[in-house]
Parts: sequence; C-alpha cells; structure tokens
Amino acid sequence: MPGLPGEVRCGLKKVLLQFLANSVGICAIRLLQSGLRQARKVIFMIDEWDLTATNLHRISKRRYEVAVLPISAIEAHNRHLPEGQDYRHTTCVARTACKAAWDRCQSVICLPTIPYGVDCNLMAYPLTIHVSQATLDAMVRDIVVSLRKHGIRKVLILNGHGGNEFMPLIRQLQTEVDTNVFLCNWWRVGMDKYGDIFECRDDHAGEMETSVAMALYPELIEPGVAGDGGVRPFRFEAVRQGWVLTSRDFAKINDHCASGDPSKASADKGRRFLELVCGRIEDFLVELAEARIDDKFPHEP
Ligand SMILES: [Zn+2]
Repeated sequence: MPGLPGEVRCGLKKVLLQFLANSVGICAIRLLQSGLRQARKVIFMIDEWDLTATNLHRISKRRYEVAVLPISAIEAHNRHLPEGQDYRHTTCVARTACKAAWDRCQSVICLPTIPYGVDCNLMAYPLTIHVSQATLDAMVRDIVVSLRKHGIRKVLILNGHGGNEFMPLIRQLQTEVDTNVFLCNWWRVGMDKYGDIFECRDDHAGEMETSVAMALYPELIEPGVAGDGGVRPFRFEAVRQGWVLTSRDFAKINDHCASGDPSKASADKGRRFLELVCGRIEDFLVELAEARIDDKFPHEP
C-alpha cells in the first residue's frame, strides 16, 4: 500500500487480519457444528444386532444369547448373476432375520459373513475362490470358542452355499465346547412351500436363485447372457436316483456353471420366498434366544 502513511497501513493490516481470523473461526465452528449434527444422526442409526455396527459402550450393557454366523462362497452363477451371489443373499437373509428377531428379544447378534466357501469343483471358472473345508472349520471353531469366552453358548451357522458341510465339525465341537451349534442351510428353509412359489426345481443359479437376485439386487443381473441351466446327466441310474452320491465337476455338466433354468424367475417369486424364509429363521432365533440351557438342552426337559 504505497502512498499511505505507515500507521494507517499498520491499522488496515490489523483489521484485515482480525477479519480473516473471525471468518476462519466462524467457518471452523460451522464445520464442527455440522460434524456434530452428522454424528448425532449416525448414533441414532446404530444397529445393536449387527456386530460390525455396534460398539463397546453398547455391547457392555447388553446380554447376547444367540450369535448368527453367515457363511457363503464366491463362485460363478450361470453368466448373468454376480460372483458374490451367495455372499449377498446369505448376508441379506441373516441381517433381515436378525433385525426382526432383535426387535422382539434384543439378544441376537449377527456376525459378519464369511465370504469364501468350498469351491474346488468350480475352479474351472475364472476367479472362483476356493477355501478348503478344513480352513473353514478352523475359522468356525475359533469363532465359536471366542463367542463362548464372551458367554454366548447358542450359535446358528447360516450357510448359503451347497458345497460347505458343517455337520461333522458341529458333532465334534459339541463334545469339546459347551456351546450349542445349530446349522441352517437357508435355501432349505422354505422347501415345503417351494412348489407353491416356483415352477422348476432349482439347484444352482436357476429359477429360485435368479428370483432372489431380482428381489434383492436387480441392478447386478446381466441381461441377455444367461445359459439355459441344462446339465449333462450322470451315466449311472443309481447316481441319478440319488442313492449313490458323488461330487460334480461343474465344468463337465455344461459351459456356464449352472444347474437349473433361470427363465421363469421373477422378483415377486424371490420376495415371497425370502419373506417365508426370513420369517421362519426370525421365529427360530427368538425361540432359541428365550430357551434356557439345562442338562437336556436342546431336547425337551
Ligand atoms: Zn448360490
């Protein structure tokens, strides 16, 4: 500011600096206030049935009776469904049932979904991730033992992938840890009503799984690319009838990693099936949470 006397220059500088300091201060206060407003909103959204959402402050004041452990897989489902199909629908079933059960009994906790499963027989398809049953079992065992240390003695494994087999582990675990482990393959929950909702028997990525995807995440279904889900049958009658079993290599049954026709799928069918399944699981969780563990549990006293 040439041309102005030194004192005036100095005075203007002070006023300018004061103005800037005030502006920055006001901005900072406004930011802080809006941050607090946001934080207040988040606090009201904390779901105490969701282990990934709740916190030490809240958990310390609760008594959880039942833990739900969803387990899934990452694998191809025909050409049109997402690789994370099992992860997504199993997580959704677990969360829906746990939330509804929580509203009735406030003692159910939903653990995060284990995303990987046993997929060695689908490895011919790119980016299938296979985790051995032994690895899964080791993880489930550690989780059950951790839960026991925190006083939770009722655990439901909610499985969403046909290749995972947990009964041998459960049989073994229950002789070693005083925890009661239950297994629910969720797609079996509504089998008695299956024919009322769907037209074709589903096995992998067919009418049922496509309907469920249409109900939950239609934006992830690729249009116009699905194969018909037809499979090359076994050459032995005993295996076709099911009294002799073997494992299927999905690369040998067709070229699109599916078993079941998706063409009759609809979002409405998916919604009806999910409503039935989630409602039944919710009822079981409430019953389990309220059941007292005595020396005959889980049998009648
Ligand atoms: Zn699946």
